[in-house]
Amino acid sequence: MIAAVFNGPGELEVREVGVPAIGPDEVLLKVGANTLCGTDGRILRGEKTRGVRKPSILGHEFAGRVAEVGSRVEGFEVGDLVAMAPVIPCRRCFYCRNGLENACQNRQAMGYEFDGGMSEYVRIPAVALEAGNLFRVEEEVDPAYLALAEPLSCCVNGHRSSGIRLDGTVLILGAGPIGLFHLQLALLAGARSVIVSEPSEFRREFAARLGAHVVVDPLTEDLAAAVSETTGGLGVDSTIICIGLPRLVNDALHMTRKGGYINIFAGLSGKGWTEVEANLIHYNELKVTGTTAARRSDFETALKLIESGRIDVRPMLTDRFPLERTAEAISKAAGGEGLKVALIP
Ligand SMILES: [Zn+2]
Ligand SMILES: [Zn+2]
Repeated sequence: MIAAVFNGPGELEVREVGVPAIGPDEVLLKVGANTLCGTDGRILRGEKTRGVRKPSILGHEFAGRVAEVGSRVEGFEVGDLVAMAPVIPCRRCFYCRNGLENACQNRQAMGYEFDGGMSEYVRIPAVALEAGNLFRVEEEVDPAYLALAEPLSCCVNGHRSSGIRLDGTVLILGAGPIGLFHLQLALLAGARSVIVSEPSEFRREFAARLGAHVVVDPLTEDLAAAVSETTGGLGVDSTIICIGLPRLVNDALHMTRKGGYINIFAGLSGKGWTEVEANLIHYNELKVTGTTAARRSDFETALKLIESGRIDVRPMLTDRFPLERTAEAISKAAGGEGLKVALIP
């Protein structure tokens, strides 16, 4: 089979490798699609090294069909359409026992610890099946859309801690795929006004088409004035930071109303150092939070939202490339032109 093999920073090679052999407690998945993500780029550039094996097959956003089932596996049959939550929690550590399995101390991930979806076939390890990370999909949905359950699951996790409520007002900083998912979730949750700030015209138009009430170019327009006007001078109930610019944290503190929520959803560049007017948190009783990865339950929710069409992921998938053209697909995903890019084996 063909796979995109990561040999070290800057070295990604699409080549022939053996189809993985599975054990009696494992499943072999025939990849229908693998969507690309910022994490893949960070691994390739050598910025993310923790847990990354070399060589390994990248890709953690994938879905496909069961091609082979180990003799002791129950609940899956050859031909089943499946999607996978790529973060496998240990289920024993403090965080796993206390509702924060997304921050598990012993978590293992598909796509660099275990070989991932930039490949024709993926071995689903026993530990993942045992933890319930592989989900059967009942509806016939394009695997490229199902693959988006992974980024959506992280947004579902972030949504839960963003304080978005019926008739609420929301500010989303950044309209890449993540910002656009948050936009759709906020609308689904009944937000009255969603303001999206995004420098790219292509992405602003996208946000408007998906239902954003106000779209602002922060480079040429006064975002704070737009927020003030939309919220009668109060500031928004919730701000979600979806671009990794540290200075946006202070902007968010200024544009969120008293008692409101700020979710630093994006990982901030560098170490994330920034100066903030911390007294705003004090006097305005702001709730500042963050989001990392997703729980299996968030993944299941995301999958159901996609299966039922309540979150429309179709327009978010702007490009498809054959696996052989992985390098081209990665540079496309890194540019501002498209949104989500899928590799199709
Ligand atoms: Zn991802
Ligand atoms: Zn754990």
